[in-house]
Amino acid sequence: QIIYLNGQYVSKEDAKISVYDHGFLYGDGIFEGIRIYNGNIFKSKEHLDRLYDSAKSIMLDIPLKQDEMQQVLIETIRRNELRDGYIRLVVSRGPGDLGLDPRRSPKANVIIIVEQLSIYPEEAYLRGLKTVSVSTRRNVPDALNPKIKSLNYLNNILVKIQANLAGVGEAIMLNSQGYVAEGSSDNIFIVKRGVVYTPPCYVGALEGITRAAIIEICGELGYTLKEEPFTLHDVYVADEVFFTGTAAEVIAVREVDARIIGEGKAGPITTHLLKEFRKLVEIDGVK
Ligand code: PMP
Repeated sequence: QIIYLNGQYVSKEDAKISVYDHGFLYGDGIFEGIRIYNGNIFKSKEHLDRLYDSAKSIMLDIPLKQDEMQQVLIETIRRNELRDGYIRLVVSRGPGDLGLDPRRSPKANVIIIVEQLSIYPEEAYLRGLKTVSVSTRRNVPDALNPKIKSLNYLNNILVKIQANLAGVGEAIMLNSQGYVAEGSSDNIFIVKRGVVYTPPCYVGALEGITRAAIIEICGELGYTLKEEPFTLHDVYVADEVFFTGTAAEVIAVREVDARIIGEGKAGPITTHLLKEFRKLVEIDGVK
């Protein structure tokens, strides 16, 4: 496995950074998770746009232009000889001193890891996941704006811990007002009477790239899509519930807090959207 580290291609063993990196000391940095399908980088521009927007927002200078980053991604994939997998692109503030001041960390660290992906088994897409809601709340837009895909993932880790304790793989996080926000690393959708709903990002959800693709696909297929805040009650009584994310793609939910959703398996609209999404990943992308 070859890792890109600040202009060098190094082995996993040699991919090391300083303990003074503010990404490590303070979670000061940003990242992206990107899929490679058939040797293509799926939604490459969208992921890089989000990365560079996150960087701008937190005043982090990425030492590569966006098109250079694109080339580096391609080269890292080529060196790893991977046709299907996952890219983790991390830009941390870089090494500084023990104070918070980012001016003391003038050189960001850029890291690209390319790996095989362990994904849900295919039958999970048919049966749907069991999930629960958790008490951890999503930050509403403030310094930890959910639009910034930062290295501050403690909220999400706490959701994951609560999911683990409940014996489920993904869980539902609400915002501090009680509106449904998202999962630990997935966006959420519900379907009621043929209409597809997803929370607007201002309730506290990442602007997921899979989410955006599904919104677009809904338009193309003629499904009404509404970005509206909703509560757990709406989730419990939905006909269908599903999560979207780079790793999960579009995965149905069959049970939420012991309430059976619809028929207790992947519903027709979820199945249709997954099918169309999988068509899209085959044709879309950068070589
Ligand atoms: N929400 C959070 C908190 C995430 O970390 C992710 C994964 N990046 C998502 C949603 C899904 O976003 P995407 O479709 O861009 O992977």
